[in-house]
Amino acid sequence: MNTDKIMAADAAHIMHTYGRLPVVPSHGKSATLFDIEGKKYIDFTSGIGVNSLGFADKGWCDAVTAQVQKFAHVSNYYYCETASLLAEKLTSLTSLKKIFFANSGAEANEGAIKLARKYSFVKYGAGRHTVITLTDSFHGRTVTTLSATGQDKFHNYFFPFTDGFRFSPANDIEALKNIIDDTVCAIMLEPIQGEGGVNIVKDDFVKQVKEICNEKDILLIFDEVQTGVSRTGKFLASEYFNVDPDIVTLAKGLGGGLPIGAFMAGEKCAETLCPGDHGSTFGGNPVSCAAACEVVDRLSTKEAMSEILEKGKHISDTVASWKLPTVSEIRCKGLMIGIQVKCDPKLCLTEAVKNGLLILTAGKDVVRLLPPLTITMSEIDEGLAILKKILTSIGA
Ligand SMILES: *Cc1c(COP(=O)(O)O)cnc(C)c1O
Repeated sequence: MNTDKIMAADAAHIMHTYGRLPVVPSHGKSATLFDIEGKKYIDFTSGIGVNSLGFADKGWCDAVTAQVQKFAHVSNYYYCETASLLAEKLTSLTSLKKIFFANSGAEANEGAIKLARKYSFVKYGAGRHTVITLTDSFHGRTVTTLSATGQDKFHNYFFPFTDGFRFSPANDIEALKNIIDDTVCAIMLEPIQGEGGVNIVKDDFVKQVKEICNEKDILLIFDEVQTGVSRTGKFLASEYFNVDPDIVTLAKGLGGGLPIGAFMAGEKCAETLCPGDHGSTFGGNPVSCAAACEVVDRLSTKEAMSEILEKGKHISDTVASWKLPTVSEIRCKGLMIGIQVKCDPKLCLTEAVKNGLLILTAGKDVVRLLPPLTITMSEIDEGLAILKKILTSIGA
């Protein structure tokens, strides 16, 4: 099938839930993608922060194929070597003690919410079930994680939504205090709001949130679905705050391209869930776990982290050096980069694709870059040259 035929088949048979760009990928290597017509793109997206080792990474391919050739799936009635190995790595890299493997970010968050509610129910009885999240947050697409998402545009059509969620603006501790009462069991936040606009949550706000949580035995959940697994130059972005979370969720970058999600629990609630409380047919899939082991091994080293920070700084410094009138602010932690623009970010995206560059948007006015963490400096500079060209021409 050629591009037109594939686009027509998609339109005819796949539900129209995505505004797709006219690209049909053929193959890629590192951060360079080719479509079926042979056109080349530099990838500043990693999917949406998923392909942390880029396309067709040798070590990742070897890890995945080795497991596929042994067995792809049994069931969670049996033990899984790659899942145990991965759990060991993740707990030793963080302050968290135990882990549950799911398949996506929404599922990881859904599990985290269940865990927090059970922790509170067992200790304090019914009624203490409220979860507070932040305005402009994004936590997923299931009915409950939509309910947890602090953006009105997601609270449509699918009524009734799950009860027990309240929203408070980021970095406003007084507003948060005002909505805390005896029904609150958890506060959930993204260290950097990804979909919401690459908004970096302030250090002193998080420290104050942690104090309130300690005082009232409220669980602190970090949604690190987008920020986790070294994306920001630390294994978890929440490490920047120096506070120990009670629960952390991971997904996007963890499998390097295969679906996997996870929620991890600290000391307080590591033993809360018991047999029968939670489960997943596909969760902890051996192939996804083998892929994730490779990702974690490669990206959790000091050298990997410092490279990520260096590349992020190079990108943000370069964009700043252009001094373009269209750019109002650059927000950057490692390779999670938000460029706030005065033009329509969707226009930047379509122009970028035409010129051979893949980028993302976020919030109302942000161009978001989430390149593979192993992107090369020459790929970065090739992509930046295209970005400069399109931001300059749109601004003119
Ligand atoms: C993408 C994302 C999710 C949802 O993940 P899915 O895998 O699409 O379900 C949840 N939280 C955050 C912060 C995300 O960026």
